Amino acid sequence: MTKTIIETGWNFDNSYARLPESFFTRQDPTPVRSPQLVILNDPLAASLGLNVQALQSHDGAAVFAGNEIPEGAEPLAQAYAGHQFGHFTMLGDGRALLLGEQITPGGERVDIQLKGSGRTRYSRRGDGRATLGPMLREYIISEAMHALGIPTTRSLAVVTTGESIVRETLLPGAILTRVAASHLRVGTFQYASKWGSPEDLKALADYTLQRHFPEADADENRYLGLLREVIKRQAALIAKWQLVGFIHGVMNTDNMALSGETIDYGPCAFMDTYDPGTVFSSIDLHGRYAYGNQPHIAAWNLARFAETLLPLLHADEKDAVKLAEDAISDFSELYQRNWLAGMRAKLGIVNEEPEDESLVEDLLHMMQKNRADYTNTFRALTFDKLEDTVLYGTPEFAQWHGRWQARLSRQQEPKASSQQLMRSSNPALIPRNHRVEEALEAAVQGDYSVMERLLDVLARPFAHFPEQADYSAPPAPTACPYRTFCGT
Ligand code: AMP
Ligand code: MG
Repeated sequence: MTKTIIETGWNFDNSYARLPESFFTRQDPTPVRSPQLVILNDPLAASLGLNVQALQSHDGAAVFAGNEIPEGAEPLAQAYAGHQFGHFTMLGDGRALLLGEQITPGGERVDIQLKGSGRTRYSRRGDGRATLGPMLREYIISEAMHALGIPTTRSLAVVTTGESIVRETLLPGAILTRVAASHLRVGTFQYASKWGSPEDLKALADYTLQRHFPEADADENRYLGLLREVIKRQAALIAKWQLVGFIHGVMNTDNMALSGETIDYGPCAFMDTYDPGTVFSSIDLHGRYAYGNQPHIAAWNLARFAETLLPLLHADEKDAVKLAEDAISDFSELYQRNWLAGMRAKLGIVNEEPEDESLVEDLLHMMQKNRADYTNTFRALTFDKLEDTVLYGTPEFAQWHGRWQARLSRQQEPKASSQQLMRSSNPALIPRNHRVEEALEAAVQGDYSVMERLLDVLARPFAHFPEQADYSAPPAPTACPYRTFCGT
């Protein structure tokens, strides 16, 4: 009998491995006892040119567990540094390995990374491993972000390893396969700037330009072009986070991707009740990464990025500093513009009037004062179901609503197109923390059906279909606020 071999479709070309050697350490994943594929992202696999059937077989589990290295992969751990809660330190992939860069049928280049694949040179005291709950959590939230139209790394698969991991208790081990435009971080430049040679830094900057910003490569001052483009993408990204109430939770400079994708889903969570001071992470004691502080922190991180580029921006240090400062000072205006454009869309406004910002701010203040649910308030406005919001019945809201209606009537577009804009700008639902937890608890017990249903409703947040109603309720009030944990 002849055995049919299905080609998996790996098509690696590993440009990062051609950077100077100080940027990485070559190393294979540490094999695990008994890999089992627990979730595979079929549409993503297909878009990468991978054969889903082949991946669902024994081979997929072995590759996603790091027990087998696919042809063309060149596993390596990336070196980087970073400011963690404001403190600079050497980091690097302590529990992740880049397998290589897959070239998709569309000609795109994406990183394929295993997270939880064993110790590396950069592990410090960590065990190099990851546990099932947090890896599935990253899967759910990153895929929800993608469906919300927010640039993000993606999740291709999760395998369990058959090994127990020591945390506060023994937990099932797991490995996530992450797909990213790249894993170049602000922290990668901080590493090059602090410990690399001038040639290393230049090689990294040239590489980043070529990989992500080929248009800026032709600029007169290409490194200034690089800085400006990174700033532009972050301004757009953070505005998108704010518009859906996403709180990253650990915006250290090593967790800011230069591609403009959201990366590193650790203690992140979505806000229910509108409050700029919202913090979920148990380790964020001073609210450095609170919802309302995210734009400010992004600017701070970008200033750290700009510092690394100074020697490339201009031969004269003073001139270099001036160029960097000017570029950084553009961030807040770029951010504000993106945010206001998004807020206008959430309110069905298509043109611009100077009073729009105060219209938005007044709504947000009211939401904060009345502890209104952020997502559901906008949904209630979208479907004209005002009685669904706690704001309903207050004179303040009636007055605001009149102002908003008057504003809408001053634009040419018919009411229907305004409503359409609102439907496509205000999600029916977000991954509510209590729903995510419920799915993870079931999965860790071996029942994946709760998570599959959740993934299903999260995949089309702007479709507004009836089954989503069950998932849109905020959590019941409790004495203990929701907390997320790092060190997973
Ligand atoms: P994160 O907070 O996930 O961004 O990780 C910060 C740093 O800690 C990175 O250098 C990670 O690679 C490293 N790290 C996190 N967890 C582990 C672990 N279990 N073993 C080794 N390194 C880890
Ligand atoms: Mg990280």
